[in-house]
Amino acid sequence: MELFTSYGISKNIIDFVQNSEDALYNKFKELDEVLLYNQLKVLSSFKQNKVSERHFMQTTGYGYNDEGREIIDKVYAEVLGSDAAMVRSQFFSGTHAIVTALFGVLRPGDTLLSVTNEPYATVKTAISSDKASGTLSEFEIKYKQVNLTSDGEIDIEAVKNAIDSSVKMIYIQRSTGYDNRKAIGITEIKNAISEIRKVKNDIVIFVDNCYGEFIEKLEPSQAGADLVAGSLIKNIGGGIAQSGGYIAGRADLVIMCSQRLNTPGVGLDSGANFGQNRNILQGLFLAPKITNQALKNAMLMGHCFKRLGYKIYPDIDDKRSDIIQAVCFDTKKQVEFFCKAVQEVSPIDSHVTPYAWDMPGYDTDVIMAAGCFIAGSSIEMSADSPLTEPYTVYFQGGLTYEHGKLAVMNILGKMDLVK
Ligand SMILES: *Cc1c(COP(=O)(O)O)cnc(C)c1O
Repeated sequence: MELFTSYGISKNIIDFVQNSEDALYNKFKELDEVLLYNQLKVLSSFKQNKVSERHFMQTTGYGYNDEGREIIDKVYAEVLGSDAAMVRSQFFSGTHAIVTALFGVLRPGDTLLSVTNEPYATVKTAISSDKASGTLSEFEIKYKQVNLTSDGEIDIEAVKNAIDSSVKMIYIQRSTGYDNRKAIGITEIKNAISEIRKVKNDIVIFVDNCYGEFIEKLEPSQAGADLVAGSLIKNIGGGIAQSGGYIAGRADLVIMCSQRLNTPGVGLDSGANFGQNRNILQGLFLAPKITNQALKNAMLMGHCFKRLGYKIYPDIDDKRSDIIQAVCFDTKKQVEFFCKAVQEVSPIDSHVTPYAWDMPGYDTDVIMAAGCFIAGSSIEMSADSPLTEPYTVYFQGGLTYEHGKLAVMNILGKMDLVK
């Protein structure tokens, strides 16, 4: 107890958090059941593809005949339920993978139709912005949007009406992003896709799968999506992959995207692995468990703040489809306090104070607390907020549940919320 007291964690806080954990017992059991299923899925893909020590070998230069890279593409494709995948450290982030997929498939005159409100801030900038050059709009690719219903669901009828002959691609963002809404679940994605196909069968359905991998037993490709993309410093990298992104889906589309990332004519067959294969594979192997821990952290955080009277989303009983827990505060100060407390309880850079800054690609200042082994990794514990009204903080990650639990305790202590 002395150790806890010296961190400002009182007996009352410990009991308060413990009560939430106890209340979540059945929910945690459900998560563990999904975890076991996904762990077997990953393990069987490793076995099926005879992943071996030689696949860890580093390649340099052009990276031709990189057997390890080819195996990783296969294993990812299987795990994601896709025909093909391209997993590359050359993608510097999730945004890079997503935007590569858009440029890979869309051509001048085509329309991209987003059906889940505005895309994530950095993707939105790449679609069209006065402040950036080389956007999709500069290449005469048009953009339309159908907002979610007031219940936060895909507005199927409005989407069907918005589809005309120029609409080549549908954009679905699974995770909350900086929006005021819950994530879009696999069942909802599946229903939306089957309805959309009734209007236009050959439309390309793209899903931004950031924060979505291993939350459910099925992935978007298994719900009918043609193409998905995500980040290796989120769920699927398991906290071990050092950088990178992936695109997975229909083989012809993945090849088109590879021509964009690399060059037309070379496509999938290039890209040195810089010795990252072991990290990518080990991270994937751990990812179901790491995602499970992040989900438990999110739920525990949400449960505690809901008991204290704050609005949260997703709500405790909402079906989750990403690792985010949004907590709605009343003031900027509270958001700053929350982020400061997350930074303080991080293993790295615990002594620094996070401030909002003009991050590249975002159109407002963003505050981000992240004391990570891998810079900016948000499967490691992080909390961020655009620091504008409504004052919502987005909490996610944490490689172990115990770290998450300590973070909740530290936040409650520092914000002085439990008497
Ligand atoms: C994280 C994220 C992205 C990509 O962001 P990067 O920081 O570039 O990896 C895109 N969409 C959503 C919903 C995200 O959460």
